[in-house]
Amino acid sequence: MSEHDLEELSMWQDILDDVVSGRLDGHVCPFCNKKTIEAEADEAGINVRCTNCGKWVEGSTPF
Ligand SMILES: [Zn+2]
Repeated sequence: MSEHDLEELSMWQDILDDVVSGRLDGHVCPFCNKKTIEAEADEAGINVRCTNCGKWVEGSTPF
């Protein structure tokens, strides 16, 4: 993982934490600052993406 990826990941971190806690809606994209985040979480993992700028991130769930 490159330094750039880590930087992006840190920008997603707050949203990822909320998604892990079960809050899937109402997030603001850290890159374009629009409320266009779509988040999914299940036992397979977390998938968060912005429908406006196309940024996305995947994570693993801690459960
Ligand atoms: Zn965006």
